[in-house]
Amino acid sequence: MIRSVVIVGGGTAGWMTASYLKAAFGSRIDVTVVESAQVSRIGVGEATFSTIRHFFDYLGLDEADWLPKCAGGYKLGIRFQNWRRPDEHFYHPFERLRMVDGFSLAEWWLALGDRSVPFDRACFITSALCEAKRAPRMLDGSLFVAGLDGPLGRSTLAEQRAQFPYAYHFDADEVARYLTAHATRLGVRHVVDSVEHVALDERGWIEHVVTAGHGPIAGDLFVDCTGFRGLLINQALGTPFESFLDVLPNNRAVALRVPREDAVEMSPYTTATAMNAGWMWTIPLFRRNGNGYVYSDQFIDPEEAERELRAAVAPGRDDLPANHIRMRIGRNRDSWVNNCVAIGLSSAFVEPLESTGIFFIQHGIEQLVRHFPDQRWDPATIAAYNERIARAVDGVKEFLVLHYRVARRDDTPYWKEAKNRPAPDGLDERLALAGSRLLDEETIYPSYHGFESYSWNAMNLGLGHVPAEPPAALHHLDPARARAEFDRLRAEAREMVAALPSCYEYLAKLNA
Ligand code: FAD
Repeated sequence: MIRSVVIVGGGTAGWMTASYLKAAFGSRIDVTVVESAQVSRIGVGEATFSTIRHFFDYLGLDEADWLPKCAGGYKLGIRFQNWRRPDEHFYHPFERLRMVDGFSLAEWWLALGDRSVPFDRACFITSALCEAKRAPRMLDGSLFVAGLDGPLGRSTLAEQRAQFPYAYHFDADEVARYLTAHATRLGVRHVVDSVEHVALDERGWIEHVVTAGHGPIAGDLFVDCTGFRGLLINQALGTPFESFLDVLPNNRAVALRVPREDAVEMSPYTTATAMNAGWMWTIPLFRRNGNGYVYSDQFIDPEEAERELRAAVAPGRDDLPANHIRMRIGRNRDSWVNNCVAIGLSSAFVEPLESTGIFFIQHGIEQLVRHFPDQRWDPATIAAYNERIARAVDGVKEFLVLHYRVARRDDTPYWKEAKNRPAPDGLDERLALAGSRLLDEETIYPSYHGFESYSWNAMNLGLGHVPAEPPAALHHLDPARARAEFDRLRAEAREMVAALPSCYEYLAKLNA
């Protein structure tokens, strides 16, 4: 019987894992987190997926309590700025496409749409809410979409049926602190100390970790949450790391935390702005923006990237410290080896263009619970875990490569090169197909990776990869119902913009 789990690392990954295992197994499993006071957390990771809701609900944590304590804000989607042409933008929202007569509104937009109204504005309500900087909740707390409110209970990603309309922005350090307090209250042992050595037995399994001040700490299962260093999984166990830099060459980031003067203008979306040699995130928290430039050092050096970032978001604020980060892009060949499972940056990471880091953590934890080992350490269970994790990461990789392949921008060497990079297997066929018809659940990347077909279509159409013709059947179907649906959507959007408070107004109330 597995009785004790030792988690090394106290970043978002370590504390999410500890809290979740305690919520799942209670006192049947002892959980220890060993966290170094010398090695700091990565200090970024502020935008999430809408499915993060399953995680907080599983833990029984209430948004009204934790969100204000973590400087949080709402995220209705991602605004892609300048990816086609300067001063153009489109949204990738958390919103499925409505269907009319078996065809999505996007297909109807190809048939009937006034192409001067961009696809995202015509087919999603969320675009209007983003433009108007609206909160997704009324001042009385009710959600703008009917029927989706109320806690999900102890449910998982696999049980997601409806598309919840928002995710969060938050201060990742505050979330780690919040979860530390929560998990230790539930009985997680917290050891603030550095692991100096990982002791293996004669089979190569981890026997214990040796800390500087607390001596050896033994356990049955070890979870490596030590970030990019992969102290247990890579350094001690020698698991190979497979780089994705051949297809996703951005290997560095520089981040700035910028106080926001005009809180009223707080945006309910992440912005990803195309830059000369990469792209920049803007993540509005309650009182500041998180900003960062993600780039490839083949095309720009760190000093120049910092200058470009400062000029864009904090001119005259040279006092704000910049955080330069080297990113390890790719995944372990196996994330679970012997009695060690890697979760977080130690397992896999792709550039944060679609905010997938914390999603990978959530997915990894849920899969660990599903595949939890017993004393047999069944190799088939371990292999199944590894396959699920690898497929999810590979799916996101492919989806991100699509962003660069399809982006129209080609005015710098970086953007010219982006069109000619190799593609992961399967992407070229999918893009060829998407040139003549929209993708569906059968034609996107085939395994679970967190993105549905609407996301693939939102990116293709938003970036300008638009089929010339709609499905031929639409020429023979009565368009009246589709026209009525477009009208209904426009009217709902107008009503919601009028009725909902601004994002700042709602959050100010929550923070009061
Ligand atoms: P870290 O935060 O690096 O934590 C490592 C922990 O290990 C620390 O507590 C450290 O003290 C401990 N440790 C290290 N060595 C030892 C030792 N010897 N002994 C004991 N403890 C040790 N994700 C998103 O979902 N959305 C985003 O918008 C997003 N943006 C990102 C932007 C960038 C530039 C980067 C690099 C990542 C981003 N991520 C994002 C990913 C996200 O930041 C991480 O997934 C998340 O913070 C988890 O990090 P971690 O806990 O794995 O590692």
